[in-house]
Amino acid sequence: MHILVTNDDGVTAHGLLVLAQAMRGLGDVTVLAPDRNWSGGGHVKTVHRPLRVEEARLEDGSMAYAADGAPSDCVALALLGFIPEKIDLVVSGINPYSNMGHDVTYSGTVTAAMEAVIFGVPAIAFSLAGDENQARFYYSTAAEVAEQVARTAMQNKLEANMLLNVNIPNKPSGEIRGIQITRQGMRIYHSALDQRQDPRGKAYYWIAGSVPSGVPDFGTDFGAIAENSVSITPLKVDLTDFGRTMQLRRWNWESHSLPKPTMTSGARLAQLQQPTAS
Ligand code: MN
Repeated sequence: MHILVTNDDGVTAHGLLVLAQAMRGLGDVTVLAPDRNWSGGGHVKTVHRPLRVEEARLEDGSMAYAADGAPSDCVALALLGFIPEKIDLVVSGINPYSNMGHDVTYSGTVTAAMEAVIFGVPAIAFSLAGDENQARFYYSTAAEVAEQVARTAMQNKLEANMLLNVNIPNKPSGEIRGIQITRQGMRIYHSALDQRQDPRGKAYYWIAGSVPSGVPDFGTDFGAIAENSVSITPLKVDLTDFGRTMQLRRWNWESHSLPKPTMTSGARLAQLQQPTAS
């Protein structure tokens, strides 16, 4: 078992060290992470400049690699051959703040895991639901959970398209009430545009505002964290809104001057429905 460990907070982040340490009991570990903080950087493919990789050391003296690309670039580098050995699992994190609801599209932690799945390698993203007003981050709890989740996934089935988004309450491990398998909940952002003026009188902007909140509905990632439970959300990279495809087919597309759309036969239509298994 060969595990690639990456993150979006950069190679010096404490969460990367504890995740690498937690994975060492499960297999061979290679660490390849960004050389700086990419939080909120989303899913990136760097193709207009070269990527460079340097050797680095984690706080415990162990070997790592630091690349000047995004988290998803780090995964691509590793899986395209920078790491010659076959990689069986990619883990990303441990992010200090939660990645729930709509965060998954912004999150470097989660998109690093998505990149692995695009390459056909199962992946798990780990985030601690830290609070910006709370000084303490319970990385030891998150490391215990990460080890347990990765071990359980290995003992069951590591399928190529498995993408798990794990959020962990920021509590001592004795206060964790259990594990919930959840769906993505509703994130509420409180972003506001902060316009300022540069020394030459030209306007510039910060996307600012207050810390986002979320709706703690039962069965969602937010709901689990609100109950001090670990949230495991299985994600898919296929974002197709299958319900909407049915609605769109009923619209009158022929009133426009575009070429007439091909009529879809019943058999062909059946193929376009949501796959039941993959
Ligand atoms: Mn981060």
